[in-house]
Amino acid sequence: MILTAAWVLPVSTAPIRKGFVQLAADRIVAVGSADALRDNDESVIDLGEAILVPGLVNPHTHLELTCYAGRIESGPFWSWLPHMIKLRRAPGQVEREQQGVLDGAWQSLRAGVTCVGDISRRNLNWQVLKMIPIRKVCFVELLTLADDPPRDPDELRAALAEVREDPLLTVGVTPHAPYSVPADQIRASILLADELQRPWCTHWAETREEREFLLGRDNILPAYVHDLLAQCDVESPRLAAIDYLEQCCEAARPGALAHFNYAEPGDAERLAAAGHVVMYCPRAHRYFGHPPHPYREMMQAGVTVAIGTDSAASNENLALLEELRFLRRHTPNPPSAETLLEMVTIHAARALGLHKQIGSLEAGKQADLVAFPCLPTTTDPMSALLDQAPTPTGVWVAGRQVL
Ligand SMILES: [Zn+2]
Repeated sequence: MILTAAWVLPVSTAPIRKGFVQLAADRIVAVGSADALRDNDESVIDLGEAILVPGLVNPHTHLELTCYAGRIESGPFWSWLPHMIKLRRAPGQVEREQQGVLDGAWQSLRAGVTCVGDISRRNLNWQVLKMIPIRKVCFVELLTLADDPPRDPDELRAALAEVREDPLLTVGVTPHAPYSVPADQIRASILLADELQRPWCTHWAETREEREFLLGRDNILPAYVHDLLAQCDVESPRLAAIDYLEQCCEAARPGALAHFNYAEPGDAERLAAAGHVVMYCPRAHRYFGHPPHPYREMMQAGVTVAIGTDSAASNENLALLEELRFLRRHTPNPPSAETLLEMVTIHAARALGLHKQIGSLEAGKQADLVAFPCLPTTTDPMSALLDQAPTPTGVWVAGRQVL
């Protein structure tokens, strides 16, 4: 099958005016200018005034929290968290959050997101996501101070073994954060990801208080967190966030770090040298009231930065293009449209360890594609895409049209 469109944006190469993408089963077999197409037996579907791009990749979200969208007012993370814990503990949690996973996954597909890096607190999300034609890395979360497993590396290993992978479903490992999981368990989780050859991610340097706690100011965290930490032997390592990170993932493959909202001079160079991907969530960042994110300095230092949404409970929705539109409209000196598009495609795919399979339109890659509408007068399709954040007119995952 051949799809033609007014514009094809392969990401790996320059935009193609009147371009085509040829698919065979679940893969892309050719990409180029429609003028070069010769008569052949292939069926051609002309998408007309459309911009065809690689399926967008949301590397950091918690789909199970979609059911709490709009329930907590914008404010600092440490006042959001107890509200979230209370909402989650209300009766009917599992059914409610499973519905959230379903809604969040379809909301993502409808926004042109064909792949998610989803974090599941109790390892239940994969069963729902397996039924949905979206590509996913199902990260199983280790949270030492939780009521439910996985709470230690043995429970984590058991949970990972339960997940039934398929061509669209990869399992991933995530120790929650440096203030909720002790050092030996963070290290064990990362080593487990290495052993299984699966991606890992974690939340790191999300708040100023977290950084100061790591440095040794034990009483900087709110009392409710402080008490929980004491119960499960999480102690301050008395190290800078970057030193602690290096200690936790020594000799392991690089991973993806959600947020890293607070960086000190020199952190960016060390993140780049280690090869970690930083996942910046712009609208969630604003929601929690953090100062400007250091992502441009990180990119200058050579760090791969991807854009994610975090959960719908600290965001307006899960539409990745709206994150880019927000950056262009509401932050000073945003990166070029070209770079922004990379941050939700190939960079985001790298965060999930899937950059060889998805994230650009290239022969041999998986046929995950999205068509967005444009005007006949569009001459700058990237800016049109980012400034209007339109709703897709077609979504394909592994060669199959799902919307
Ligand atoms: Zn998160």
